Amino acid sequence: MKTVPRVLVVEDEPAIAELIAVNLRHNGFQPIWAIDGEAAQRELEAVLPDVILLDWMLPGQSGLTLAKKWRSQARTRQVPILMITARGDEPDKIAGLDAGADDYITKPFSTQELLARVRAVLRRRAPEQTTECVKLDALELDAATYRVSYQGQGLKLGPTEFKLLHYLMKHAERVHSRGQLLDKVWGDHVFIEERTVDVHVKRLREALGAAGNMVETVRGAGYRMTATPSA
Ligand code: CA
Repeated sequence: MKTVPRVLVVEDEPAIAELIAVNLRHNGFQPIWAIDGEAAQRELEAVLPDVILLDWMLPGQSGLTLAKKWRSQARTRQVPILMITARGDEPDKIAGLDAGADDYITKPFSTQELLARVRAVLRRRAPEQTTECVKLDALELDAATYRVSYQGQGLKLGPTEFKLLHYLMKHAERVHSRGQLLDKVWGDHVFIEERTVDVHVKRLREALGAAGNMVETVRGAGYRMTATPSA
């Protein structure tokens, strides 16, 4: 049986929420509308969605605050967040990604762009058809349980960082360009800029803590995961 992906739409403007919901429904998604952070929190506690569409400008807690909160909580950590922003400027987009969003879309957006991005985050999030464990030095990743540990200590990673780390560990000691990483990790990167890779690598390094230097920047070429960091 095909499951209908649930999309939690956190948007305070009813007209926009309605437009998004209608388009999602017509394209095989189940939209759930929450007017603010509190309503969204209630929905998240009831049933977890497959993806959260989160407006930046909300009454009460902002989308940025909510993204940070949900990314830090065990229950919601793995749910991809697609941030909706009315501002087009770069620092805000980066702040959104830093807060834990997986992607962003800028208002006004076309229905096709919205659907493409929702599908892309869902594809990225789709579990790898593997239950393998990957090990590199003292860093271990278990794809079956979604756990990552370094020297036996559990680490907290967002869904994109997890997938990025999984790929880098499976192909360790090799240099991957940003474009290659977008192809292999993001899959559908029609709307994603190469700079997005840098943002997620930065977040991955932070999440890895002491093992962060295992993700090396190879100047002019890209990134490499190594068991023997030079720095
Ligand atoms: Ca709004």
